[in-house]
Amino acid sequence: MRTVLWGIIVTPASNFQWQWWQDGVCVVHGETIEFVGEAAAYQQRYGQPPPEQPRFLMLPGFVDLHTHLPQYPVRGMGEGTLLEWLEKWIFPAEAAFQDAAYAYEVAKAFFQDLLAHGTTAAVVFGPPYEAATDAAFTAAKEAGIRLWMGMAVMDRSVPEALRRSPEILEMEMQRLVQRWHRPEERIQYAITPRFAPSCSPPLLHRCAALANRWELMVQTHLAENQAEIAWVAELFPDQPHYTGVYHHFGLLHSRTILAHCIHLSPAEQAIIRQKEAVIAHCPTSNRFLQSGIMPLRRYLDQQLRVGLGTDVAAGYQTALLYEAREAVEQSKTLALCDPDEKGTVDPATALWLATRGGAAALSMEHRIGAIEPEFEADIVCFAFPSQWQVQSLPHLLPLLLYRYEELTVTKVYVAGQLRYSGTP
Ligand SMILES: [Zn+2]
Repeated sequence: MRTVLWGIIVTPASNFQWQWWQDGVCVVHGETIEFVGEAAAYQQRYGQPPPEQPRFLMLPGFVDLHTHLPQYPVRGMGEGTLLEWLEKWIFPAEAAFQDAAYAYEVAKAFFQDLLAHGTTAAVVFGPPYEAATDAAFTAAKEAGIRLWMGMAVMDRSVPEALRRSPEILEMEMQRLVQRWHRPEERIQYAITPRFAPSCSPPLLHRCAALANRWELMVQTHLAENQAEIAWVAELFPDQPHYTGVYHHFGLLHSRTILAHCIHLSPAEQAIIRQKEAVIAHCPTSNRFLQSGIMPLRRYLDQQLRVGLGTDVAAGYQTALLYEAREAVEQSKTLALCDPDEKGTVDPATALWLATRGGAAALSMEHRIGAIEPEFEADIVCFAFPSQWQVQSLPHLLPLLLYRYEELTVTKVYVAGQLRYSGTP
């Protein structure tokens, strides 16, 4: 079956560049994109004009590299900095996921919210319990979002309700991998050690072994907050730095996503680059918890792999376009405050990170993250904002960030399937 979409098509090309078709047509055939081009070229190829329908503004679906499903009910709540916020607000919220029926209801609302904001692929910290993680995967499968998710594992430094022994966690992870790691169905299991302070050496060993055995993604947190970094230095006195802990346990490779990475020494940056691990930049959350400003421009200049994450709940909303705006604005703030920060990040770059950059971070850049023939059809269609007088692509790209509140998501496709339909 073919779906023909007509309107303005905006898509990232290679290397932070963009292209568009002002009177564009995109033809989706089954799961993939069959044709992208001007309406005249469509007519020539298919022998008819595009069908009458509302014109859309189309972009590739957004890729959220870091967010927490069990924190969705408390997004934007609380105050203070990371460690006290976790204790007071987050650990109790996550303990509520011992109830798998509650987990299913939250997961259903969470994935609908992501799709409603144009996110078609997400890397997600799941609940800290096996049954709740099952329920969350079930909800994801029903929603049809492209997903990498795992049960968040902890065996120390957190309330008793959230921790289990490394042996038990390993068994639970194995069962979850066997039940849910289904790349052909666009659902993958990601090994998810919360962060070094809550994971003992035996647990970190087991996480690395499982990820290697099944070639799974690994997601964790790194260098978010100064007190956290000092704590890691106490817990792992034999390691040269925080990054060294994950490196030592074999958790750093090209399938690793490291959230935050605000305070990294040059030596740590060099290890991350050498291991080709990915940094998930979460600027809204970084500001909410007063963690700091990640030097995005510097990391990109150093060829580090970076994408964007909303980091619910410290990230208090789910729209990648909002996160892209924050990335640009915070790069300006950092350039103002830090003489070592050379230059800023422009909207084209931030949007690229939200789409093709996110796909590249997942080693999926030849399949998703752009509207191109033979790519899988992950597409977000906005109602065409007729009040926007755009004559050129450089006019349009900043509006997508700074006036995204004027956009209405009307249709979202994942692998050619309509997964969200809003008001036209
Ligand atoms: Zn996080």
